[in-house]
Amino acid sequence: MSELISGKIISAQINDELRQEVDLLKAKGIEPCLAVVLVGEDPASEVYVRNKKRTCEEIGIKSIGHNLSKTTTQKELETLISTLNDDPAVHGILCQFPLPEGLDETSVILTISPEKDVDGLHPFNAGLIAMGKPRFISCTPYGVLQMLKRSSISTSGKNAVVLGRSNLVGRPIATLLSSKGWDATVTVCHSRTDDLAEVTSQADILIAAIGIPQFVTEKMVKKGAVVIDVGINRIDDPSKAKGSRLVGDVFFEEVEAKAAFITPVPGGVGPMTIAMLMVNTVNAARWQNGLAELNI
Ligand code: NAD
Repeated sequence: MSELISGKIISAQINDELRQEVDLLKAKGIEPCLAVVLVGEDPASEVYVRNKKRTCEEIGIKSIGHNLSKTTTQKELETLISTLNDDPAVHGILCQFPLPEGLDETSVILTISPEKDVDGLHPFNAGLIAMGKPRFISCTPYGVLQMLKRSSISTSGKNAVVLGRSNLVGRPIATLLSSKGWDATVTVCHSRTDDLAEVTSQADILIAAIGIPQFVTEKMVKKGAVVIDVGINRIDDPSKAKGSRLVGDVFFEEVEAKAAFITPVPGGVGPMTIAMLMVNTVNAARWQNGLAELNI
């Protein structure tokens, strides 16, 4: 049986540490503040935004919500973001994606000041990651790294295979794991990879971020591997009251018998993503006040 890496437990530890850091900052007259912009009424986005605001509250970070109607124009949205860029009391800006149809996400990402880009999506921050000098790391990749670090899993010299090459998850994880300090030998797989199982079964560390329920089966995993499941997928399950349940990209029930470490879904990478948004917000407040980043 494998050891479970619990994102619930690790994120709670990080949030506890942040609470103390925020108290110290407040004693210095600095109140970390996150502006959260939501456009439209997508129910999943509303849940994500609610969870982010609640976590801010628990830690003592001020959150300011801007709920805009789905008829908001690109210009109105970007004018709001420019106002937030110029407001010294706001340290971090998050615009919840996906945006309603007709609005351009890339243009919004480019409008957010790289200094306040706590989601780590601006090309300036992605570029710093590529140069091996990360500043804001996007929250899900950052959460994956913290899970490895806080579980004392060494990545140096290990074969890491990343399934998925999205700008949000797969690509930054692969870049970070291959960078100095993490020092893994990284292979990136995607929908055109030949003989995927052959590649994944060489992995000491396997990271699945493709968005296909239970795709990674036991025969794709090397015995004793570390398996990190980023996927969040809803599948039908008539035995549940809701008629469905959440699963990852990994067939957990099969793979847990073979892996040395595995993350569950839910309760794995998901809660880490919000915790790392909080870390980025506190760091934004620190950097904007001339302080060094947290030692997380
Ligand atoms: P995406 O759709 O942008 O990218 C998926 C990637 O998987 C693509 O690069 C594609 O090439 C690759 N892929 C697709 N089919 C494949 C196949 N058969 N074999 C190999 N590779 C294949 O998705 P994303 O935004 O990177 O998200 C991936 C998953 O992670 C989703 O389930 C998403 O819900 C989840 N996610 C979770 C969190 C979290 O907080 N835990 C955050 C972001 C995304």
